[in-house]
Amino acid sequence: MTTELSPDSLTGLLERARQDYQDLAGRGLSLDLTRGKPAPEQLDLSAELLSLPGGGRHTSADGTDVRNYGGLQGLVELREIFADVLQVPAEQLLALGNSSLELMHDCLVHALLSVVPGAESRWVDQERIAFLCPTPGYDRHFALCQRFGIDMIPVPMTPEGPDMDAVERLVAEDPAVKGIWCVPKYSNPDGVSYSDETVARLASMQAAAPDFRIFWDNAYAAHHLTDEPVEIADLLAACADAGNADRVFVFGSTSKITAAGAGVAFFGSSPANLKWLLANNAKRSIGPDKINQLRHVMFLRDADGVRAHMERQRALLQPKFEAVARILEAELGGTGLARWTDPKGGYFVTLEVPDGCAKEVVRRAADAGIVLTPAGATHPYGDDPRDATIRIAPSYPSLAELEQAMHGLTVCVRLVGYEQRAR
Ligand code: PLP
Repeated sequence: MTTELSPDSLTGLLERARQDYQDLAGRGLSLDLTRGKPAPEQLDLSAELLSLPGGGRHTSADGTDVRNYGGLQGLVELREIFADVLQVPAEQLLALGNSSLELMHDCLVHALLSVVPGAESRWVDQERIAFLCPTPGYDRHFALCQRFGIDMIPVPMTPEGPDMDAVERLVAEDPAVKGIWCVPKYSNPDGVSYSDETVARLASMQAAAPDFRIFWDNAYAAHHLTDEPVEIADLLAACADAGNADRVFVFGSTSKITAAGAGVAFFGSSPANLKWLLANNAKRSIGPDKINQLRHVMFLRDADGVRAHMERQRALLQPKFEAVARILEAELGGTGLARWTDPKGGYFVTLEVPDGCAKEVVRRAADAGIVLTPAGATHPYGDDPRDATIRIAPSYPSLAELEQAMHGLTVCVRLVGYEQRAR
């Protein structure tokens, strides 16, 4: 990433960066690029949900009264809509509560406390358990591991998904490795989509643990930002074909399709895993919120309805991602101070700054009124050994605020980067 500079030009660049930073700090900004939340205009696209299912409608297609208890699998017509999106046959898909993160949490707790199909004992009875964490990754996955005392083993991400040589080796040699976190499409935070080869290797690799599970968090399955939607290979089918039918738990939700935190979450897996989860769920719930599920069916209608809705989401999001790319290129292109991703979907851009600079950039930005995700959050235990990765979440601020924040961020990168070079 380095570009050679003469001492004179470095002094000039540093002086300009200092001046720009002073101007920035004097502007009294209060901007937030932290969490990948939908903007109010995106939520407005689903405004109709607030008046559905409407006074007269309270039965699902098979005559179930959605106002009553029961229906642990969720409404079949909603599962049929999302079967296509999540690559899980409707009969192997459950429509459950309002959050997929909650489901991931529950699956970990259930696996700790009740034997998963194929396991010899409960995870809690084993001396040590570990998860592979493709890195950079989603901070809340890592937080779940920390919460339950699950060791995290970082595995580097590549443009095709996790480094599969490392994954295959670790999974084959260590029976304590019980799982891996995967965000297979438009990953959080670097927008990577897994290649067909990665999916095939995940499905067929040897696992030392008989109860090894892939936590396939397909959170951005329908969240395209270009005319060429990425399609990934079907891991659930590939696992079944490879004789590892129980290997994968698929998660997804409508949080970033309809209403964040008030959508519907899904779980897909093999018949044995479904039976296991349903039996465990039956102890904690007498049935999901089927009224919310019915309003989603009425609003989205079918898989084409989801696609059309996501096009409207894209129309709001794409200009923001374009602005991020444009400003980074204009302000940092050719400086040798940064590299960034150009995601084709999802919610994030990853900015890589010179080693040892990310924390300081985030600190300087905060001092100037621009809040960023803490540096390190993209890594297990909050520790980015190179201190180089910054996650940018462009969705929530207005375009004008985003542009201001991005200009400010590039000032901080120049300041910290040139200060480091001058040392
Ligand atoms: N998984 C990933 C990869 C995410 O980025 C997010 C939210 O940012 C979630 C899950 C949360 O999903 P939910 O709202 O369904 O709990």
